[in-house]
Amino acid sequence: MLTDPHDTLTHAQALLPKLSQWRRALHQHPELGFEEYETARLVARELQALGIEFSAGVGKTGIVADIHSGKPGKLIALRADMDALPIHEAASNDPAYRSQVAGKMHACGHDAHTAMLIGVAALLAQHPPTRGGVRLIFQPCEETQDANGDSGGKLMAHEGAMRGVDAVLALHVTPIQPAGVVSYDPAISASVDNFECVLTGAGGHASMPHRTVDLSMVLGQVLNAIYSLVPRNIDPMQAATLTVGSVHGGDTHNVIPAEYRLVGTLRTRSREARDRALQAIEQVVVLARALGAGCTWRWLPGALPVALNDEAMLGTMLASAKAMLGAGCVGGADELGLGGEDFSFLANLAPAAMLYLGTKMPHGEHGDWHTPTFDIDETAMPIGTAIMYDSVARLLG
Ligand SMILES: [Zn+2]
Ligand SMILES: [Zn+2]
Repeated sequence: MLTDPHDTLTHAQALLPKLSQWRRALHQHPELGFEEYETARLVARELQALGIEFSAGVGKTGIVADIHSGKPGKLIALRADMDALPIHEAASNDPAYRSQVAGKMHACGHDAHTAMLIGVAALLAQHPPTRGGVRLIFQPCEETQDANGDSGGKLMAHEGAMRGVDAVLALHVTPIQPAGVVSYDPAISASVDNFECVLTGAGGHASMPHRTVDLSMVLGQVLNAIYSLVPRNIDPMQAATLTVGSVHGGDTHNVIPAEYRLVGTLRTRSREARDRALQAIEQVVVLARALGAGCTWRWLPGALPVALNDEAMLGTMLASAKAMLGAGCVGGADELGLGGEDFSFLANLAPAAMLYLGTKMPHGEHGDWHTPTFDIDETAMPIGTAIMYDSVARLLG
């Protein structure tokens, strides 16, 4: 196994043409969650060419490959997600590799994640572990869920992708920092709990609210309560937020509606805040009923748990990055947020870390994650490949 970070980076840089070729092939043929058939075929083809054995069809379209030394030692997993988004790529993006599928695009950089993990496989094929082993997890469907509320990370965890794993690491590209800079958020993922609240009443004539329950008035109180209960029940030093993204009810000006349906999302960054928020918010049911309305509250399938970076694992990834890029390579805490990342399902099964890899485009106007003008600076891909390989080398000792 390569143990000198500079040597590893040199080897990874020699892979840039291939990394770029894999990433562009994926970028031109984006596939949505659990539809990553061609993507998985490309991964399988490359692993086969490298002589690496793997299992396909784990978590529907996922792939798990083990490269084991045959000697005792730790098993370190590396994870890349493979799915694209239902976004139409901007015509101003590079025609050399723009998406060829209308309405679908790799706008979160998962094409680069997959390419970099194939790059790690290529390094491992040439310079395999001398003790313990490495597991490569190519994960489908990070961005969304199937009808049962299952995402790719959740399904792969259920199907044993983390069995025997001592630690799991991942990278995510970021358009905030340039190539050569890395950053991190102490939380890998915020908790995500989506809800549905349904208010019901008899409905009635707009001129006679006293003969019914005015659900519009109840709705106003319920919205106020939803937005007040979370901040007033959570330690102000902890982050938690909530958004009602959809309110539906009523059809016309002179009818008091018989139903309102609200849908929203609750995000927190700690297990304590999540537990308190989940309890607090359900008090709106009591309020709505006290005002005479029927009210049901339902947490929708597909919740994501909070996952936190393990300090030692994050420290290992940062040590690798600093050894290659210099001590000043760690950017600010720009990534602190309440976004969900379904790596949390894998990350909660072993000490875990996720590092953000700067891939900001050096020229041109390019947007954030999940925008039609998103793009990455491909010269960062060898850095990501090298950081993953070198982190594994450090952990296997
Ligand atoms: Zn995304
Ligand atoms: Zn992503």
